[in-house]
Amino acid sequence: MKFEFCPKCGMKLTPQTIGDEGLVPFCTNCERPWFSFSYPCVICLVINENNEIALIKQSYGEDRYVCVAGYIKQGENAEECAIREVKEEIGLDVESVRFIASYSYEKRDNLMLGFVCFAKSCDFTLSCEVDKATWFTANEAEYKLKNASIALQLLMDYLRIR
Ligand SMILES: [Zn+2]
Repeated sequence: MKFEFCPKCGMKLTPQTIGDEGLVPFCTNCERPWFSFSYPCVICLVINENNEIALIKQSYGEDRYVCVAGYIKQGENAEECAIREVKEEIGLDVESVRFIASYSYEKRDNLMLGFVCFAKSCDFTLSCEVDKATWFTANEAEYKLKNASIALQLLMDYLRIR
């Protein structure tokens, strides 16, 4: 997200040098900079006690498996978001989360924070955004995610350090 107009007062922003940051869009009315940023969201590798990985197919978008993911709400921390998204999308109670790495997804201007979410294997309760959820072995998941770039990176990063 790159600001052209002030989100608060609507005035056109003008570049102003801010310390080490260089030129930053600045509102001379509100006297504050509006830094460019990528929307933060979480991507969750959901793993059960048998080391199986839950992947989903969304009811919108392409017909392929992806990881549970979602935008961080204002005032929420990333761990809370990961736990909430897993509950909302597939109905599992996450027992613990572990941060793995962050990924810049330029196509959608997102900063994706990658977590492993440990949950007990049980029946999925799907949200209306999710068509299908399935447990896969790590090998199967790697194959299913071959066209999902960030999810695959998260899986490979997790397998390397676990
Ligand atoms: Zn302003």
